[in-house]
Amino acid sequence: MHIALFPGSFDPFTVGHADIIARALPLFDEIVIAVGTNIHKQGTDAMGQRVKHIEALYHDEPRIRVITYNDLTVDLAEREKAQFILRGIRSVKDFEYERDIAATNRQLAGVETVFIFSDPRYAHVSSSLVRELQAFGRDTSQLVPQPKNTNATS
Ligand code: ADP
Repeated sequence: MHIALFPGSFDPFTVGHADIIARALPLFDEIVIAVGTNIHKQGTDAMGQRVKHIEALYHDEPRIRVITYNDLTVDLAEREKAQFILRGIRSVKDFEYERDIAATNRQLAGVETVFIFSDPRYAHVSSSLVRELQAFGRDTSQLVPQPKNTNATS
């Protein structure tokens, strides 16, 4: 059983995140989306809301689980029995940052990080960009995936 942990702030979850998950699903038996608090970033969206949004998106996908965490990623990976960490790479900036973290995680716990390059259509999309647009009242529906409405009566 190959389990990948996809950790992030997901504040909010964007089309870029969704693309990485869709493309990683054929590689793993299960993907655990771990919504965490990045100590360097200020989360604006309440954690519970973020989790509910992501759960609603993957309601029909039994191979995806959504959890929250606030500890070290390798400790979480061990707890979830995930042999892999999944991350997306948008730019050289992401690459530099991710390379150091991946090396550390491998050294600490032997966990391998699997990287997927962002689709060029989404390489400019970030949660902070979405938050900024929302703060100024702009429509972000093209950047934030919305769950299919499964309850047509309400
Ligand atoms: P973190 O605070 O841990 O960076 P994020 O929610 O910003 O959390 O990102 C989680 C993961 O998703 C990271 O690996 C990030 O590089 C990736 N990611 C974010 N946006 C995109 C995007 N538009 N395309 C591809 N990967 C992305």
